[in-house]
Amino acid sequence: MVNDRFDSPCWAHGPPRATGTLRALQRRLDWKESATRLIECPSSGKTRMRKIFQFESPRERYLSDAAVVWCYDHRFDQVFRKLLTRIGIQFPDPVRIAGGAKTLASPARESDREFVLEQIRLSMELHGTKTVILMLHSDCGAYGGLKAFESPEKEAENHRQEMHRAARYLKEKFPELSIQAYFVDFGGVWEATSE
Ligand SMILES: [Zn+2]
Repeated sequence: MVNDRFDSPCWAHGPPRATGTLRALQRRLDWKESATRLIECPSSGKTRMRKIFQFESPRERYLSDAAVVWCYDHRFDQVFRKLLTRIGIQFPDPVRIAGGAKTLASPARESDREFVLEQIRLSMELHGTKTVILMLHSDCGAYGGLKAFESPEKEAENHRQEMHRAARYLKEKFPELSIQAYFVDFGGVWEATSE
């Protein structure tokens, strides 16, 4: 099920449109030789954008295999992609925020948790998402890093409990969802099994 609002480009004042002298200027430009394309915002008349490069993105809509709540710590980017491949997630809807699943388990602010819930709800509505993957990683700044724990084992156990907390909360809000949880450390990926 896909919402109609997905058809609208992300423009605050409607689709971009070249007008007046700008249109005349555009006609004079040789698009093949010039990478510059001018687009004017109808309301302000000031917006100008320069095309950086040409790239054809797929136009087909998709159904998401899973919404993935995950931290944006770049050190774990490669293992993150590898995990998605390993568990067969081709079309993820990543919700990347500092701390990842911590935002559902023990958020700094309740509004953060509401934000993540809304992202998941939208993924379900727009892309038919039926699965959520909750993830935490070692040495996460949102938890004060690895140094906030006595040992890596203590950190791992804390994060295991946090993922269960996040899963319980999410299940209360969306009982129809299937939930998986993974902890990533510097040596690999661990799946959290049921308590
Ligand atoms: Zn982190």
